[in-house]
Parts: sequence; structure tokens; C-alpha cells
Amino acid sequence: MIDSHFHGDSRSVEDYEKMSIGGITEAISCSYYPYEVVKPSVLTTHFKRILHFEKERAWKERIKLNVALGIHPANVFPKYKPVLEEIKKLINKREIVAIGEIGLETMDPEEVDIFTKQLLIADETETKVIVHTPRQNKLNIVKKTKEILTENIDPKLVAIDHINLTVVDEVIDEGYQIGLTIQPEKMTSNEAMTILHNYGFNKFMLNSDSSYSKSDVLSVPKTVRLLKINECKEKDIEKVSKLNTKNFFKL
Ligand SMILES: [Zn+2]
Repeated sequence: MIDSHFHGDSRSVEDYEKMSIGGITEAISCSYYPYEVVKPSVLTTHFKRILHFEKERAWKERIKLNVALGIHPANVFPKYKPVLEEIKKLINKREIVAIGEIGLETMDPEEVDIFTKQLLIADETETKVIVHTPRQNKLNIVKKTKEILTENIDPKLVAIDHINLTVVDEVIDEGYQIGLTIQPEKMTSNEAMTILHNYGFNKFMLNSDSSYSKSDVLSVPKTVRLLKINECKEKDIEKVSKLNTKNFFKL
């Protein structure tokens, strides 16, 4: 199984161990810095930590860590340009599988500006993006996010994440890959199963978004178990828990 979106740097070695015991062999770790970003090196050092230190920690438990890096909406700050330069270098060196996670949290103009600039880099370099959608004001922000995506990037490069029952209709026909986050304060395994039953298995990728918030590192294996108990086809389960992520990000 692949957990298509989490934050390895926020979790303990015991969590990596649990993921491995639960059958996760691969994961995508996205950047998000949990405190104030006062200068560019705070983020570029955070990037290096994920690329090197976290990959090693994960591999000790035989989890292959793929890395997505970008400026998370909670990390916007004025002197961000050197961080964008660093992201371009990492793309050229093929060190990251996507720019992410990026997106909007409040639709503040600075957020929109940094989000747009990262989309343009992705579009120009044909790099995938992992786009965050927030818990608060979700429908309006998903609509605004779609507008910005339409203007700035090929939809085939976009994975839109944390989609739930309230907003799935907004994104299902947009040509994006769609992330379903099963996390205590976001969505249950049952709700994810309802979405899959209603919309099919082809566009979706399961993830735990395990982070500093309340999380369940086993939410992907638990959802897979629920799908099996409810007699979903093995082939379909394989798509949402592995193949769709592998094919989209070319892992
Ligand atoms: Zn996340």
C-alpha cells in the first residue's frame, strides 16, 4: 500500500514502524513547517530534512519515502523567492515527485500569489502538484482554487486533496487526480467508501495526512480492510491504495 500524503517529519519512529506492520511499503511525505517561517532557510532546511533524514528513518522500516516540497499556505511569508529557486533546483535534479502541498487556507492575497507562482513553475516544468483544500470555508475555497488552477496549470498535473462528500461534485469532472484523506477530524473510512461507491475507483488516492494534528497512521490499511469486508473488487482496492498513486506520480 501507498499512503499518498503524510508528513513523516512530524511522526515518531514508532509510527513508521506501525505503518510498515500495517502493510505500507511506500508513502509521499509533503512539506509543512509547524511554526513561524522567519527566513527562507527555515523552509530550505526543512526541505533537506525531509529529503535526507526522513527518507533514511522511513527506510529503516522499509518504507520508501517519496518527497513533495512546496510552500504550504500556512507557511507563506514575504521573502519567499529563494525558496522557489530551491524548488526549481530540486525539480531539475529530480529529487521531488511533486510540488506540495500547496494551496489556499484563507484566500488571503499573499497566499494566492505564492500558490499561483508555484503552479506556474509546475506547469512550465511539467511537475505534478498536490493541492491542499482547507477544513474551514471548504466549498468557497475549493471554487476559488479551481479558478486559479484553470488559469495557471494543465489539470492533468493536479492532485487535489482532502476532498470529502461536501465538495466532491465540484472536482469530479475537472480532470484532476483526487486525494481522499482519512483522518479523525477530516473524514472517516466509511465516508471514503461512500465516495468510492458513488464515483468509482479510477480517480482517487487514499492517504492519512498524518501530521501534527490528530492522525491515524493506519487509516489507509484500515480503509482497505473496510473495502474488503464490503466486498469491493480486489482490483479496485489496489487502484485507490496503490496503483493510482504510482501511475500519477510515476513512482
Ligand atoms: Zn498535509
